[in-house]
Amino acid sequence: MLNGKTALVTGASRGIGKAIALELAKQGANVAVNYAGSEAKAQEVVEEIRALGQQAIAIQADVANSESVTNMVKAVISEFGSLDILVNNAGITKDNLMMRMKEEEWDSVIDTNLKGVFLCTKAVTRQMMKQRKGRIINISSIVGVSGNPGQANYVAAKAGVIGLTKSTAKELSSRNITVNAVAPGFIATDMTEVLEDQVKEEMLKGIPLARFGEAQEIAALVAFLAGEGSGYITGQTIHVDGGMVM
Ligand code: NAD
Repeated sequence: MLNGKTALVTGASRGIGKAIALELAKQGANVAVNYAGSEAKAQEVVEEIRALGQQAIAIQADVANSESVTNMVKAVISEFGSLDILVNNAGITKDNLMMRMKEEEWDSVIDTNLKGVFLCTKAVTRQMMKQRKGRIINISSIVGVSGNPGQANYVAAKAGVIGLTKSTAKELSSRNITVNAVAPGFIATDMTEVLEDQVKEEMLKGIPLARFGEAQEIAALVAFLAGEGSGYITGQTIHVDGGMVM
């Protein structure tokens, strides 16, 4: 159980981030719900968490902006007095074939999906080191392991997250801070809803468990990695993909 722990989940107003925020709250954590866009949706998540009996706040911050990340982490610590769990979930896609990919498409995906993980991790490190404990969980992707045509920017960022996870795990281990990555396969969310039916059918053929995953199935693993039972696991990338990449 996560009773008394404080969690910060980035990009938590919908999709996988929302499922993670709710699962951590169900297990007893107080949760800071970071959002970039819709305050109303973030506030709905906050209300759901309060209905579960835990404390929650919504915090607007662009994870790619160092000043807003610093202010967000300060606000969480000032509200709850500690910061025990960071889930780097916020992410975007801007898919294009390499020869057509615009510099802006490359930069914005790397900034949000990779630099955002760096900035948020850096911002919580001092507090977690002071506490001599902490859990950092980074949402990567199986395409960061396998590669994917039309997603060079996204794949580079997600592969970078796996490397960042290993380096940070080694650096912070002496302070009892674990750092792990979760690599989802195809999970049914707004992010994947936009894909054409034909693309989805093709992907389904490559999934041994023959179905897409649910956000809740990512949240369950994140909650385990945030808890006491995973204290001897660090630097790992765990696939939750129905067997897509083995
Ligand atoms: P989603 O689009 O539903 O959610 C992403 C969230 O991140 C949104 O709430 C968005 O507002 C937020 N966000 C985007 N840019 C931000 C920024 N700069 N600062 C703060 N928040 C920002 O997508 P999802 O499917 O729930 O994806 C969540 C994570 O899981 C992402 O990192 C994604 O890459 C990863 N992932 C998803 C899948 C999948 O199949 N859905 C597969 C592998 C990995």
